[in-house]
Amino acid sequence: MYPDSYYVATAVGITEHPTLQGAERADVCVIGGGFTGLSAALNLAEQGLDVVLLEAERIGFGASGRNGGLIGSGQRKDALEMEAQFGFERSKQFWDLAEAAKAEIRMRVARHDIECDLQYGQLEGVHKKSYVGHAARYAEALETRYDYPHARALNREETRAIVDTDGFFEGLLDTQAMSVHPLNYALGLARAACEAGVRIFENSRVTDYTRTDPAKVSTEAGHVDASFIVLGCNGYLGKLEPRVAGKIMPINNFMIATEPLGEESARKLIADRNCVHDTRFVVDYFRTSADNRLLFGGGENYRSGFPKDIAAFVRPYMLKLFPQLDYARIDYAWGGTLSVTVKRMPQVGRLKPNLFFAHGYSGHGVSIANLAGKVLAEAIGGTANRFDVMSSIKAVPFPGGTLLRYPGMVLGMLYYSLKDRI
Ligand SMILES: Cc1cc2nc3c(=O)[nH]c(=O)nc-3n(C[C@H](O)[C@H](O)[C@H](O)COP(=O)(O)OP(=O)(O)OC[C@H]3O[C@@H](n4cnc5c(N)ncnc54)[C@H](O)[C@@H]3O)c2cc1C
Repeated sequence: MYPDSYYVATAVGITEHPTLQGAERADVCVIGGGFTGLSAALNLAEQGLDVVLLEAERIGFGASGRNGGLIGSGQRKDALEMEAQFGFERSKQFWDLAEAAKAEIRMRVARHDIECDLQYGQLEGVHKKSYVGHAARYAEALETRYDYPHARALNREETRAIVDTDGFFEGLLDTQAMSVHPLNYALGLARAACEAGVRIFENSRVTDYTRTDPAKVSTEAGHVDASFIVLGCNGYLGKLEPRVAGKIMPINNFMIATEPLGEESARKLIADRNCVHDTRFVVDYFRTSADNRLLFGGGENYRSGFPKDIAAFVRPYMLKLFPQLDYARIDYAWGGTLSVTVKRMPQVGRLKPNLFFAHGYSGHGVSIANLAGKVLAEAIGGTANRFDVMSSIKAVPFPGGTLLRYPGMVLGMLYYSLKDRI
């Protein structure tokens, strides 16, 4: 069942797909109906392959139907951090991949006429005085070395003219980054995938698969014999694939939607329907919706459950930036699970010649998951150039593996959230 979120309440075209019963045969069995799985399935079907997609719950049930909808440029790590860690050449390769991710989303929205409120413009608000100056350096590096002239630094007043908060010392405005109603985008991809011939089964949780060729992918009520498997379960992977589970960490992140604020107040709060995130390690992110609510994400936890009162958990983060919204009723509050990696870079790879996976987008998956699915489809189709680049980042296991990774993570997060405040 879908969570009670703003996105579900405003979803366009929720379609019920059957539950898998009995035996099916396919070239590729995709596991997971989020951006990774849907993008892989659609791109595979467009190559002429016969594809079955199995989703444990509903299409877009996971992070893909619950997120902030921010489609950032670049990777989770900014290009200068990437350069310091991997050198300029690889950093540029990953920048170009992220540009391809944005292009893929733009192309899908246009080609399949997906009603998902695609908007341009993203502001990074600098929350700490000691970070001032980085925006200008970054914008210059992007323009001169990354062929990207679309980001510019804004001083405090210019930033305030876009976001009505005292919380930012300066900003970086990226006019070619975007935002989207994520569930509607996922539902649009699912419709396009069905039109391309993908057979989608919902409420069909995969319980096991064999390590054979072809593989037998089993659910409670049926199975699929497939030449290839694509694993796109991300933060919801659970125990399905222990060989990769210890290298990602599921974490929960939370969002609220205010009551409609009226067009004038919404535009005053954030100009031009830009989306915004700040420079905190546990990032605050927000934008206004088509019906003029503030959609605000902030706060996360590292346990299996969500806070009992998500609205009460997230609201203080919103009020810290926007005390003027003290009056606003919170109409929706929800959470979702994503996965992060030690290096904060996605993990894309192959466990056997016929078993591919992509996950661990570390909070940057709206763009990168959509490209990762396409890149897995390319690799299965025999073109592995981009797969080779994406899979070149070697995964590092979390200390303590699946059992003990949480205590280490909590300590690490406490350290960074303290750093955010100092
Ligand atoms: C609250 C929140 C806010 C976020 N905001 C942003 C943002 O603004 N920008 C950004 O870039 N990223 C954001 N993210 C991260 C982003 O949403 C994810 O990186 C992205 O959606 C991952 O897509 P996915 O398809 O890999 O995983 P998911 O969308 O989580 O899909 C995985 C699917 O696999 C299914 N599944 C799991 N196990 C099985 C099984 N055994 N059998 C069958 N199906 C199975 C699940 O039910 C699920 O539907 C946010 C995440 C959250 C939770």
